[in-house]
Amino acid sequence: MSLIKHHIGGIAVDSPDRHADVFDPATGAVTRRVALASVDDVRTAVDAAQAAFPGWAATTPLNRARVMFRFKELLERNAGDLAAIITSEHGKVLSDARGEVTRGLEVVEFACGIPHLVKGEHSMNVGRDVDSWTEYAPLGVVAGITPFNFPAMVPLWMFPVAIACGNTFVLKPSERDPSAANFMADLLKQAGLPDGVFNVVHGDKVAVDALLDEPRVQAISFVGSTPIAEYIYARGSANGKRVQALGGAKNHMVVLPDADLDGAVSALLGAGYGSAGERCMAISVAVCVGDATADALVAKLAPKVAALKIGPGYLDPEMGPLVTGAHRDKVRSYVDAGVAEGATLVVDGRGHAVDGHGDGFFLGGCLFDRVTPEMTIYREEIFGPVLCVVRVPDFDTALRLVNEHEYGNGTAIFTRDGGAAREFAHRVQAGMVGVNVPIPVPMAFHSFGGWKRSIFGPLHVHGPDGVRFYTRLKTITARWPETHHAEFVMPTMK
Ligand code: NAD
Repeated sequence: MSLIKHHIGGIAVDSPDRHADVFDPATGAVTRRVALASVDDVRTAVDAAQAAFPGWAATTPLNRARVMFRFKELLERNAGDLAAIITSEHGKVLSDARGEVTRGLEVVEFACGIPHLVKGEHSMNVGRDVDSWTEYAPLGVVAGITPFNFPAMVPLWMFPVAIACGNTFVLKPSERDPSAANFMADLLKQAGLPDGVFNVVHGDKVAVDALLDEPRVQAISFVGSTPIAEYIYARGSANGKRVQALGGAKNHMVVLPDADLDGAVSALLGAGYGSAGERCMAISVAVCVGDATADALVAKLAPKVAALKIGPGYLDPEMGPLVTGAHRDKVRSYVDAGVAEGATLVVDGRGHAVDGHGDGFFLGGCLFDRVTPEMTIYREEIFGPVLCVVRVPDFDTALRLVNEHEYGNGTAIFTRDGGAAREFAHRVQAGMVGVNVPIPVPMAFHSFGGWKRSIFGPLHVHGPDGVRFYTRLKTITARWPETHHAEFVMPTMK
């Protein structure tokens, strides 16, 4: 059985004392083991990143961009292999894994433009014979801590921008699907990135806490669940670090009576059940305005949910297994809770079996109707193939529902009424809004992030916010005087 090691200073390093199992979710079998870093292993990775920093920071932005261009080419050429690795450990279907790689690749393309992004601003003659300009300096060693659900894309939200800005990076990927990180580390090495600029430490809370407490780590980017995001933000900030911590979600899609219903049903099917609902931008609540809208939507949606093609991800059906048996059981327990609390379970996927894969972590699609805001399945993030329909009488109630939920990652409205859509987009309390677009994930040259308890820290990831997060601003004011005299008043420009 293969052992997944850390990638530190360009070489593979084991942690002999602690390892964890990595599963193939389609079969339930343990297929690999992953090393779990100790505090010393993390220190070694930070040593490597710290040693590489001066040389990398001094490398011109143009030459950093050239490494990114080569990495982009390698990523494109190896996208199929990376997607297969993702499917083998995460379980998502192959075409979806391929889509994940593409969305990550777009951030590399953005980072290829780094000379333009860090060129700063210049003002001539802010005072007589005085010029002023800004520079964007890298921070030093920065770290990324990432979740299981996008083992390639979420790290790619972070490290291409961080590295292109001149920082060195330590990635702590999810221990549930760790291989994608090592694969990308190899591609970066092939692209000519100097050893130590990008390092991977695998592990659990021990590794995370070591990064949070390591004084040489200047900034932490985190993506994961809200309780951990809040913890990372608090501990990282208390240790003086710059932190961006993106958390969980409960994304609502509002369906108005005038919506194209077939379009809304197709959107809900993909956004609710794609990747088995294990997406932070998945739609998990459909808010139907009016009983007639809800009745018609549920009548069209239910047979499609019941007929979802479910199987091993490598066969590329519509939906694969969940990531682990423990997670599948947790999602199933939410379905039990929904039934116990009185929601109507229109489609029950709990008994779904996949031929020849009895030990795989499969769960059928589940659809609840008549869910109310007090229910556990409405309040909490389920992170599985479970969609809740909530019925409301009017637009204002729908908007209030979205705004009162503790999460504010993404949201969408389906309607043919431009005025209603505009009002929704401007009044809704969420970071990413779709109008007839169910999963409004911003492109790489914009920034990605939620509001409320879906994020801790002011800056979103990638795009302009990413460059801002991974650099610090310096403003220089210069004069070349020919005479010298002391000034005792506050200097003002003349
Ligand atoms: P998670 O919070 O369990 O784990 C995320 C990372 O934190 C992993 O690397 C993990 O090893 C580490 N971690 C876990 N427990 C820890 C602890 N007690 N102390 C320190 N570190 C710990 O999340 P997950 O289950 O891997 O991913 C799913 C979650 O991520 C969902 O809540 C989903 O909404 C969220 N997510 C959010 C976004 C976003 O952009 N907002 C994107 C993707 C996923």
